[in-house]
Amino acid sequence: MHSAVSRRQFLRSAGLLLLGTRLATSVGAFAQGERVLVLGAGMAGVSAARALTDKGYSVTVLEARGVAGGRIRTDMSLGAPVDLGASFIHGTRGNPLVSLAAQFGAETYNTDQEEDLYVNAAGAAISSSVRNQGQREYDALYDKLLALQGRLSADRSIGSVASPLLQRIRQQRGAAVGDFVSFLVKSEIGIEVGADISQMSLKHFDQDEAFRGADLILKPGYISLINGLAQGLDIRFNELVREVSWSASGIRVTTTGGVFDADRVVVTLPLGVLKRGGIDFSPGLPRAKREAISNLGMGVLDKTYFKFPTAFWQTQEDPIGFLGNVGGRGANQIPEYYLLDQALGVPIFFGFTAGAQARRFERLDLATISAATMSSLRNVFGSSIPEPEAVMQTHWRSDPYSYGSYSFVSLGAKTEYYDTLARPIDNRVFFAGEATHRRYPGTVHGAYLSGIREANRVVRSFS
Ligand SMILES: Cc1cc2nc3c(=O)[nH]c(=O)nc-3n(C[C@H](O)[C@H](O)[C@H](O)COP(=O)(O)OP(=O)(O)OC[C@H]3O[C@@H](n4cnc5c(N)ncnc54)[C@H](O)[C@@H]3O)c2cc1C
Repeated sequence: MHSAVSRRQFLRSAGLLLLGTRLATSVGAFAQGERVLVLGAGMAGVSAARALTDKGYSVTVLEARGVAGGRIRTDMSLGAPVDLGASFIHGTRGNPLVSLAAQFGAETYNTDQEEDLYVNAAGAAISSSVRNQGQREYDALYDKLLALQGRLSADRSIGSVASPLLQRIRQQRGAAVGDFVSFLVKSEIGIEVGADISQMSLKHFDQDEAFRGADLILKPGYISLINGLAQGLDIRFNELVREVSWSASGIRVTTTGGVFDADRVVVTLPLGVLKRGGIDFSPGLPRAKREAISNLGMGVLDKTYFKFPTAFWQTQEDPIGFLGNVGGRGANQIPEYYLLDQALGVPIFFGFTAGAQARRFERLDLATISAATMSSLRNVFGSSIPEPEAVMQTHWRSDPYSYGSYSFVSLGAKTEYYDTLARPIDNRVFFAGEATHRRYPGTVHGAYLSGIREANRVVRSFS
């Protein structure tokens, strides 16, 4: 998920402080040579494999890519570690990733020390009175959406309910406030889950939870957590899984490179990959699981990175929201940017696109993307700012090993599908990954905890 933690999540997370410390992160009983295959070396896969290997199980991880991390990918080509997938540890209190960062000596940067900056279509910062009024209207709109949830006979998209409310705000409070509220809806509801509000279920909206506390960036990159956990694990790279079959005698996994036999398997393949159906499960996934796979949404959140010769923006306000770039007005323009010069010491920032806009960005060339961003930036910082030295665009939707960024509850889906996806088959085939964690879907901590959860289940399955 991107950085914003919704207001509701924030309030609800207060009750989770104690819970966080009670989350099961240890695996019991030692193994006696049992063999476990883990499919995928993202956070869920390495977390399950670490826990099981430490307990003496014979664990082999099969990974299609040439590297571990999956939707955690740290790139060094801009001269500093930049994360093309997950960036933030969301919430510090009770979040097990904070202890992992400390354990692996990964220094963090607290992003909550900066104030946001919002600029209007003319490039001017919006006034505090527009901001305050807009925030109040947004909070009221959000509360209305939640109040409506229980009263809906049939589900509706958030967009179909929010659009007339946004129109009314614009009529009653004026265009400036209306633009700001529209921006907040796009950023905190849409970009947050990598989807357009027209695709999102209202009935099942905001059912997940969050840890309280600041959002952190890992200075050496998120990959430092993967590298720490993966030390000494048996990970076979470039092994594209094609078939998973099971019977009373065990598990057989066929990859492009060979055949692997084991007693148990933990499947951590992304929802986007399962949706594509390129993997043959035999004797077949249960109907309920197939229904969950096809109905849950796979959102798209992409990032565009820019490196400049100098940090010409000379502001510590972060993120910068471009109100004029929301909606139909800015198809090629990024609505929000996060500055990384303070965290990384290099003049780099990135922007988020989500949903239909992200899909569109994946087809654009870098020159078009760069020109649109430069026009936004010149509007705010003046015409003499330098051209970027480098631009990078992510393509999570077209990535054949993820086909999207993370799961969300789309119209026609329900929150319970996360539990359905997590349900083991025949006490032999186990499922982990962000899309199996009902409480923390779409996050690295959700993926990590799902790996521990399934490692525990595997251990119990042998007893
Ligand atoms: C742009 C972006 C920004 C994000 N921002 C944040 C954030 O700030 N904070 C946060 O908490 N979360 C964020 N997330 C979400 C987070 O990255 C994911 O929820 C988490 O990393 C998923 O881990 P996973 O192990 O479930 O899946 P993955 O990391 O996708 O792991 C699955 C693995 O399976 C492999 N695989 C796929 N198909 C096959 C196959 N056929 N055979 C073998 N292997 C295969 C993949 O290569 C991958 O390594 C973001 C995600 C994206 C894309």
